Amino acid sequence: MVPLEDDAVVLRRIPYRESSLVVHLLTRHHGVIPAMAKGVRAQNKGTARAALAGWHTLRIQGRARDWGDMALLTGAETVKSRPQLLAAPLASAAGEVMREALQRHAAPGDPQPLLFLLLDETLDRLERGDPPLPTLARALTLLLHRLGYGWQWERCGGCGAPEPSAFLSLKHGQGLCRRCGEGRARRSPALSPTLALAMRRLAREEEITLSSVQEWMLLLRLAAASIGWRGGGQPLASAECFRRMLEPSHPSTPMTSRNLVR
Ligand SMILES: [Zn+2]
Repeated sequence: MVPLEDDAVVLRRIPYRESSLVVHLLTRHHGVIPAMAKGVRAQNKGTARAALAGWHTLRIQGRARDWGDMALLTGAETVKSRPQLLAAPLASAAGEVMREALQRHAAPGDPQPLLFLLLDETLDRLERGDPPLPTLARALTLLLHRLGYGWQWERCGGCGAPEPSAFLSLKHGQGLCRRCGEGRARRSPALSPTLALAMRRLAREEEITLSSVQEWMLLLRLAAASIGWRGGGQPLASAECFRRMLEPSHPSTPMTSRNLVR
């Protein structure tokens, strides 16, 4: 048996039998760990039950036969609590998109400390009240790059011309020049010069600002589609749900200014 101690965030919870829970944990040092929390749903005031229910960063203890195998969870305490996030529907929906994207791409037993840091930091931003749309669009773009699937900009993915990108091919994750991109608009959305520049800066992990909700929405759509494309071709269902919550007719849509970085 391997003893297990690490920081973790819960990606997924699956009720098991009467009182137990299987959780998929993204850990700081050991990638995704599937773990059994025996009897945890039977505890009324158990600290482990509360810890596993939220968006908190946890310190977990357990043991497993080997890395990547189902672990037995023996302890979970909250080291960074995020109570605001639980009560904010749009911020929680943004967190769900990160969970689905990571669930799709992070493999059990494969250490991905940069992915843990990205999730931890994104949840911190949402917890402190940063606007969910830019926070999520940024996080998904960084995730794409940290997974090694980042967009390629050096030259046009169609003809090889060293021109600034005017379009983005979702299928190939490459910028396209104006000539190659026109006529492929369905799979290759057009980019404004400011968005194209911002995307290149994000790829270098620099902070960016965009001036309109539409540009943030397009960045979110591009990042979510690229992640879905790379992770089996299915779109991220949670990203669609997040986008619907931003529509003006949605009952939980907050003020527009809340969705924008200023
Ligand atoms: Zn071209």
